Amino acid sequence: MSEQNEVELLPGREECPGNLTWSAFGATYPDTVCASVLTWADGYQGIGLCDADDDFRERDVPCPFCSPEAFIEYEWGEPQDYLLLWASDESSADGVEIHFHDGQALWWTATHPERGEERVLIRRGFWEDGTFWTSEENRDG
Ligand SMILES: [Zn+2]
Repeated sequence: MSEQNEVELLPGREECPGNLTWSAFGATYPDTVCASVLTWADGYQGIGLCDADDDFRERDVPCPFCSPEAFIEYEWGEPQDYLLLWASDESSADGVEIHFHDGQALWWTATHPERGEERVLIRRGFWEDGTFWTSEENRDG
């Protein structure tokens, strides 16, 4: 744990890799390409993630690197639909900027004011009788 404020040295937000290792379309191999690195013959510029297995067709999936807010809304809904928690202690990470990272699975962090870059949990949930409960906790119940 760092005592200093080293936010500027932390990885933070990543540049869009263009050709993603993570698959948005369920393949076990890289099949996902951001439209930002593709060019179309007629000058058309696509948006979001494209499926390399389907002639680089757009799939209406926002790129988590180019449009993180839109991707979060696509995956988890409006801010009132999910909880942001610091992974280390599950305290609220409300209002933080999520930084996505490419890999076999997409993962994400945010910059904690004291602890620096740290994984964040995004839990979808629902208000019911004033109690916030998560879909994970209730999946089997
Ligand atoms: Zn992108």
